[in-house]
Amino acid sequence: MIAIPRQKPRFRFAPSPNGALHLGHALSAILNHDIAKAAGGDFLLRIEDIDQARCTPDFEAGIFADLSWLGLSWEEPVRRQSDHVPAYQQALQALIGRGLVYPAFLTRGEVKAKVAAGEAEGRPWPRDPDGTALYPPDDRERSPRERQRLLDAGLKHAWRLDMEKAIAEIGQPLSWRESGDGETGDIPADPAAWGDVVLSRSDAPSSYHLSVVVDDATQGITHVVRGLDLFHATSIHRLLQTLLGLPEPLYHHHRLILGDDGRKLSKSLGDTGIAEWRRQGLSPMQLRRRVGL
Ligand code: GLU
Repeated sequence: MIAIPRQKPRFRFAPSPNGALHLGHALSAILNHDIAKAAGGDFLLRIEDIDQARCTPDFEAGIFADLSWLGLSWEEPVRRQSDHVPAYQQALQALIGRGLVYPAFLTRGEVKAKVAAGEAEGRPWPRDPDGTALYPPDDRERSPRERQRLLDAGLKHAWRLDMEKAIAEIGQPLSWRESGDGETGDIPADPAAWGDVVLSRSDAPSSYHLSVVVDDATQGITHVVRGLDLFHATSIHRLLQTLLGLPEPLYHHHRLILGDDGRKLSKSLGDTGIAEWRRQGLSPMQLRRRVGL
């Protein structure tokens, strides 16, 4: 069960309009909505469109259509991340000012080559909980002078968190309170497992991790209910919340919906898209049953 504190509970469903919503999104949205209503709380919808290269107005329109068809309603106005870039930039600048973030110049290809070279020499490259190779140390180890030279030369760069430095600055173990379908209770955070996470890309003004913690705090979110695929990312969120002095929500990571083939659903759908259910004349009640509600 989710513990409801005295403060008015606020829940949010935060899809990215970079694909059509599927049954897993439906479960997430309905859970957030139903628990919020049962607790006398608010249900918010947030459009996480910070990665403008992958998000489209059509997918955004699909989100509104799908959620309305499901019979959900939410607080207005809806927060759209692309309208709040200065808020994320401000948080990033604060971390840069404290020397916790560095400019990262390696291209995707250069990172790939370094990982391949390391592994060819029989050194297994460390990987994050999602299986992605950790960012090489090259940029973190540059001298301030060299960094400035590259910045002055106008080289394209991202901004990455110096994970070791950030953890040292906090100086105490972090955890979060979890009530979901996996491990529950007080969960120790392990942000180090993610290495130097990216906080802003050369082609996007903020990363998912940075904008999600800024938004959850700005919107007064008390409960984060989302899929178990984001369970381990919570370690990064707790670290950023602590660095930025933001409040800590309660977390509930729910089970994932699998396709009929037993595989995780992706945004390239087939019959697992909410819109497809609508087109086939199925009812929201039937969809609720399919996702086990
Ligand atoms: N925007 C994320 C997604 O669509 C969800 C973020 C969250 O719930 O924290 O996967």
